[in-house]
Amino acid sequence: MKILKAYRFRLKTNPEIEDKFRRQSGCTRFVWNKALSLNKERLEHKIPLIWYNDMAGFLKLWKQSKEYGFLKEAHSQVLQQALKDLEKAFKDFLNHDKPAHEECRLQKNKGFPNFKKKNIHNSFRYPQGFKIEGNRIFLPKIGWVGFFKSRDIRGIPKNVTIKKENSHWYVSIQTEEEIPEQAHPKIGSIIGIDVGIVHFVSIADGTLNEQFIDFPSPLKMYSKRLAREQRKLSRKKKFSKNWIKQKNRISKIHEDISNIRKDYLHKASTAIAKNHGIVGVEDLKIKNMIKSARGTKENPGHNVRAKSGLNRAILNQGWGMFKEMLEYKLNYSGGILVRVFPKGTSITCPECSYESKENRKSQAVFVCKSCGFTHNADWVGAEIVRQRTAKKLGLVAPLIYPAVGHTVEACGGKGHKPPYEAGTSRKEQSSTAPLGISNL
Ligand SMILES: [Zn+2]
Repeated sequence: MKILKAYRFRLKTNPEIEDKFRRQSGCTRFVWNKALSLNKERLEHKIPLIWYNDMAGFLKLWKQSKEYGFLKEAHSQVLQQALKDLEKAFKDFLNHDKPAHEECRLQKNKGFPNFKKKNIHNSFRYPQGFKIEGNRIFLPKIGWVGFFKSRDIRGIPKNVTIKKENSHWYVSIQTEEEIPEQAHPKIGSIIGIDVGIVHFVSIADGTLNEQFIDFPSPLKMYSKRLAREQRKLSRKKKFSKNWIKQKNRISKIHEDISNIRKDYLHKASTAIAKNHGIVGVEDLKIKNMIKSARGTKENPGHNVRAKSGLNRAILNQGWGMFKEMLEYKLNYSGGILVRVFPKGTSITCPECSYESKENRKSQAVFVCKSCGFTHNADWVGAEIVRQRTAKKLGLVAPLIYPAVGHTVEACGGKGHKPPYEAGTSRKEQSSTAPLGISNL
């Protein structure tokens, strides 16, 4: 089984290296913009586009010309790569009704390729010619550059991208790794996870235990600080010295937030992938198609208002990254990430399968109108995801009531008297465990 993965590290630069980076990305940007404007014009005049093979021939001519001779400074494969990337962007645009990748629809800029702007788009990619040794990388036309190696690189590096973000330069190393098929030691453990309203994600493991992953409190503190600093920015004159200073301050906070979040998500996803072989999540592709029914910011549905604004953006970003981490970590250990039909997960009863909006008594509490089952609403969403995961794989995922040892079949199994009808409160049986990462 082949696993593709990207490793991103901050580069150790100095003014000389940064100057080379800027030149290389300047040439890349020039080639991209030049080829884009040629094709844009052809498109406007309904003339067939120039594709990579011909455009690469043009590039050779540009390099030999007097006016564009500066392109010789850049590594030729980097410039060719820019033309290949542009071709892909055009093809995506022309096929935008049929996204190749499930999360394509989520990406905003799948429209017409954009012109790259100085100071905003600083990146370039090497398809080959680079070398990695320990914590340094050799880049053609630039030389050896050190990086902060925060983890080991597994697999064969296929390409590297150099990119400036905020005030630092980063290298992203795309690798491919062939791993042997193996069975996860806990392949029998099925969990469902869902983005929560109160918590970042909720986990259901077949018992009534409520497990949540919440971002560490510093993150909340940072998001408050971010809001404050952004208010300050809005009061400053655009592009003034103070405005730029304030803008840098904000970049730094973004960077801190991203580091804390990433570190935390790594720990949480490692723990989950180690302890559970099968992890179910909602299928985003379908979720996006039905999103319109759930409401918009202007016309809020049940989960829009609660997560609006800055906090929502921070949480959402984390969710995509979290799933990505979970998927490759599960793949490494022989486990599997399963995507299930997302509609109605938060309003379906895990016990009798009755689906109704009426089941959501409030944001936080689920009460089934049909059988009376009641539990934390976030947990219910995760439990339905878990049951659908099992169903999709053709497995049975019983809901286990820990206090009584009573089980119900996952897919609408009937015939058992729920224990709370005999006078015990379901709520009392469940344990709301503020679990540490090691217990996930
Ligand atoms: Zn029910």
